[in-house]
Amino acid sequence: MTTRWLSLSDLAVDLSSLRLQLLDHAQLLGFSGVGVSAPQLEQDGEKLQRLWQQGYGGNMQYLVKHGSKRWRPEELVPGTLRVISLSMSCWPPAADSLSALADPDRAYIARYALGRDYHKVMRPRLAKLATWLYQTSGIHQGRAFVDSAPVLEKRLAEQAGIGWIGKHTLLLSRQQGSALLLGEIYTNIPLPIDIPVDNHCGSCQACMEICPTRALRAPYVLDARLCISYLTIESREDIPESLRPALGNRIFGCDDCQLVCPWNRYARTTQERDQQIRHGLHAVHLNELAYWDEALYEHKTEGSALRRIGYTGFMRNIAVGLGNARPLAKNLQAIAHLQRHPADQVQRHADWAARNIERRLATAQHAVCPDPETTACPTP
Ligand code: SF4
Ligand code: SF4
Repeated sequence: MTTRWLSLSDLAVDLSSLRLQLLDHAQLLGFSGVGVSAPQLEQDGEKLQRLWQQGYGGNMQYLVKHGSKRWRPEELVPGTLRVISLSMSCWPPAADSLSALADPDRAYIARYALGRDYHKVMRPRLAKLATWLYQTSGIHQGRAFVDSAPVLEKRLAEQAGIGWIGKHTLLLSRQQGSALLLGEIYTNIPLPIDIPVDNHCGSCQACMEICPTRALRAPYVLDARLCISYLTIESREDIPESLRPALGNRIFGCDDCQLVCPWNRYARTTQERDQQIRHGLHAVHLNELAYWDEALYEHKTEGSALRRIGYTGFMRNIAVGLGNARPLAKNLQAIAHLQRHPADQVQRHADWAARNIERRLATAQHAVCPDPETTACPTP
């Protein structure tokens, strides 16, 4: 059989077959979802600009930096006619999320970050798929992205029919839930496009009601300044004191709005070896993490998304978690240890943790004992 390269004059017939081959090949590479869109993002650009003007983007200046490239794909990659969106499941099995969240002495780490950094898992596969597309079509030109450029990845995936954007502002699907990583290939090939799926949120508001910081200001509207994922991962600043109690034990990201979503009953867990839980981080205690020095942090987070916040940010978040933990001796000792940490930011957060524990103890005593001077109060 001889190979026949596509030319622009016979694309109409061969593109359908190319699209089908693309779906098969993406599946072979381990992608759980794939779809093609002819991006229409102008309205999203307008909405984004309104949200930025209202300050909902927090300090994520990089959102603004690239301007309209984010919603005009041809400005980012000239010649782009289609975007191929791809998804992969990212939650490891046996992550025991609800037990970890319910235990204030344990550290809660977003489930996608328990294994190898997803950029490292996804990027080489996208590169392989793009190479395959070029070799098969002979005309593909474009670029592949995993969170590495100004790309409206969720809206693109929605337009490509992989799922819909839920009220929690994440992409979800009936088959895969929302535990999805997304990547894209921008291409000049006018592939047949997929049909977007319907939104199935209906009257549900579970994600909005569960959000510990009320960051979902309205359906489909996230105020990043209040979102625990932003506060614990993106922001390098001190975490606002008023929000620290609501963080609970969440020291890297937050999954609450996903854990409560009824469609995540159908979420597939990842079988990728690289994304399985490392170092028992799904069940680790805050007071253990407090004693990590920088060398141990570097060792335990090698190849992991946890590297994103850096050692100081990691310890800052642990200090807040300890301020919300039970007033056990081992937690108090860990707080005292962090109060002597070389980084000022960690010290400040550890000082708050000590104050917060004292405040909680005092509140609990007064709640139980009408006269704490004369009554023996139980330890809260
Ligand atoms: S990630 Fe957490 S804080 Fe952010 S919107 Fe979801 S539930 Fe709220
Ligand atoms: S929790 Fe309900 S409202 Fe929120 S994304 Fe899921 S289905 Fe939609």
